Amino acid sequence: MANPMVDDAREIKEVNPFESMMSRFDRAAQLLNLDPDLYNVLRVPNREIKVYIPVRMDSGRLEVFEGYRVQHNFARGPAKGGIRYAPDVSLDEVRALAAWMTWKCAVVNVPFGGGKGGIICDPIQMSQGELERMTRRYTAELIDFIGPEKDVPAPDMNTNEQTMAWIMDTYSMHARHTVTGVVTGKPVQLGGSAGRREATGRGLLFCINEAMKRLKMTPPQTRVVVQGSGNVGGIGAELLHESGYKVVALSDIHGGIYNPDGLDIPEAMKHLRATRSLEDFPGAERVSNTDLLEIECEVLAPCATENQITSQNANRINCKVLAEGANGPTTAAADEILHDNGVFVIPDILANAGGVTVSYFEWVQDRMGYFWREAVVNERLQEVMVASFNDVAKYADTHGVDTRTAAYMLAIDRVAYDTRMRGIYA
Ligand code: GLU
Repeated sequence: MANPMVDDAREIKEVNPFESMMSRFDRAAQLLNLDPDLYNVLRVPNREIKVYIPVRMDSGRLEVFEGYRVQHNFARGPAKGGIRYAPDVSLDEVRALAAWMTWKCAVVNVPFGGGKGGIICDPIQMSQGELERMTRRYTAELIDFIGPEKDVPAPDMNTNEQTMAWIMDTYSMHARHTVTGVVTGKPVQLGGSAGRREATGRGLLFCINEAMKRLKMTPPQTRVVVQGSGNVGGIGAELLHESGYKVVALSDIHGGIYNPDGLDIPEAMKHLRATRSLEDFPGAERVSNTDLLEIECEVLAPCATENQITSQNANRINCKVLAEGANGPTTAAADEILHDNGVFVIPDILANAGGVTVSYFEWVQDRMGYFWREAVVNERLQEVMVASFNDVAKYADTHGVDTRTAAYMLAIDRVAYDTRMRGIYA
């Protein structure tokens, strides 16, 4: 008889994002025959910062929030990665997300290391004033650790251009001059880059286009299911629709909408913006976020959050291509099942790397003080995404491994090379 205690422990381990990242890292390191000294260096973050953030709430009460910034690796340049605000943020999650940024930046070959930040809070319940005070105090606590040459934050879940403008301003007040390059994902008028907001969704589109060529499929025959309708899923769905794909399902945090003949995505997004929900969108069936993942389609794009595809539902995933717009949507245990079922995976560290690629362009433009037209940004993004997709696909073919393992191997090999060349300072 199954022991429920053991099953529970196994399940908890399966959905721990840090365990998820580490099991892929270990597999890739083993296949690379990674030097044990380098393995010991790369398996741990460089620095973890924990801060307590006192915030005067609108009620007059003082509340103290717990926040983190994990700087995983600096071998290839400043740490880089978003900051998320959510009630379920944990140090293990931020640690995993920071490591994923290191591998992601290496896959697309931008000169950054990896970092990630998070604050445990419920941003939906907080006023703009409370969010501003919390963001500014968090920035002040991290002031010695961030900067254009040190660590460059960006938006992630529940943070946006406004959050970045507050961080930039707080940092600049301390520096006593304007420092635009301390964050990316800023408003375009304040040193942001044209095309940054759409970059993750656009990068996802470029990856899917490449997968289509490889599998000899064309957009009009391709049914796409998108989980999530925020900065990645919403914009991704709009761009896929614009490129002639048949987007049959889309969801928000409350649930999804489904029409086997294809959804009118511009109308659905208009409805979402006006009513803050996809519910009641005419001409579509309602479907839960879990059932949505099992809809028969050619491309499934989970663009919401971690642990959506696990050993529990991987066998019921009914797609040819899995394009991971979110970070860590698939657990390591699910990888094997998808592989056995012949699903072509565009792994998160490649599929959603368009965001950090244009963040790199933004950082470059800030340092030059010279800004590019959106068409130039998009063209350069396409160049990077197409080259990176093909690097990963070729690596998988030549080494006889799946695409996720190939992406990790490629990334770890690059970071390991740079670490070895720099040497260990002792
Ligand atoms: N938060 C995004 C990610 O997970 C963007 C990070 C960045 O641009 O630095 O890739």
